[in-house]
Amino acid sequence: VAKRLEKFKTTIFTQMSTLALKHGAINLGQGFPNFDGPDFVKEAAIQAIREGKNQYARGFGVPDLNSAIATRFRKDTGLEVDPEKEVTVTSGCTEAIAATILGLINPGDEVILFAPFYDSYEATLSMAGAKIKCITLRPPDFSVPIDELKSTITKNTRAIMINTPHNPTGKMFTREELETIATLCQENDVLVFTDEVYDKLAFEADHISMASLPGMYERTVTMNSLGKTFSLTGWKIGWAIAPVHLTWGVRQAHSFLTFATSTPMQWAASVALRAPETYYEELKSDYMAKKEILVDGLKAAGFVVYPSSGTYFIIVDHTPFGFENDVAFCEYLIQEVGVVAIPTSVFYLNPEEGKNLVRFTFCKDEGTLRAAVQRMKERL
Ligand code: GLN
Repeated sequence: VAKRLEKFKTTIFTQMSTLALKHGAINLGQGFPNFDGPDFVKEAAIQAIREGKNQYARGFGVPDLNSAIATRFRKDTGLEVDPEKEVTVTSGCTEAIAATILGLINPGDEVILFAPFYDSYEATLSMAGAKIKCITLRPPDFSVPIDELKSTITKNTRAIMINTPHNPTGKMFTREELETIATLCQENDVLVFTDEVYDKLAFEADHISMASLPGMYERTVTMNSLGKTFSLTGWKIGWAIAPVHLTWGVRQAHSFLTFATSTPMQWAASVALRAPETYYEELKSDYMAKKEILVDGLKAAGFVVYPSSGTYFIIVDHTPFGFENDVAFCEYLIQEVGVVAIPTSVFYLNPEEGKNLVRFTFCKDEGTLRAAVQRMKERL
């Protein structure tokens, strides 16, 4: 394997899902729903295939989808963007992240990450030859240590990566935090790359897009996807919204990474994004009921449960059970309890920082959640 990827292993999500199957354990690890997306979206995909929408799509997106994305962004943020010039459709948000980083970051540029961070950020920054600067968010509230952020920014800082609502903690960046980061970015000429794939799973606070803050649209790439919002994680439809001068870089990288994204799925995605507001309201209330089952169950089983404002993840401290670290705890949990969680140490540059924490997801049907909770109450 190339040096730039030497330190990375099989992703933790793949590892844990493989173990779940092997041990017949209930999988509350990898974040994918065990229920299907809505029928009207699936039907739209079938129809698009039948209608012959099966050849390469336009590189930066099927026109209908670009415009549906721009319309939704306007509803969500109040910002008017040009669907033809400022929206790029990608193969999932993971590709949007890769295209953004590879298209806008030079080798040696410094990029700031907040740990714990989603694993693809570090790997993709490494492929781009970026220098990673990491700031750790700590429990219980995972708030941004502003002084540390100030002292981490240098004249070589090119971008700050933000993820809100945040995987794996469920933290939502507060308006105050975003405003402070925005000011620092403007003072130091720094870009923001923001991953907002859980924006519709904001339970305890309103989601705020960095791009909507004064002066920030010009220096922000906003990334999102269809997967979480429409329970279709396997479709891999994502996008990046950015001003023309940044979109140029994103599109150049996208052209040579994947060239274009699945045509019929883009047509179906354009139908999905035109869903009435009631769709999102129902999604949220369904997830709130699931969240309650898991949170109550984890507390009853004896974990220290940290508050999660958004996403479908919950972070807990497993130390009441006396294991050495997160990996040892998760191994026991799979083998002896029959439940899979994600050890969080892989989400830190320094794995020690994550050793007390594990992540559970509640994107499963209620029966599955109750069964998992029951096992943990009885066997832990
Ligand atoms: N985003 C999903 C999670 O955090 C995993 C995606 C993947 O397996 N790469 O669980």
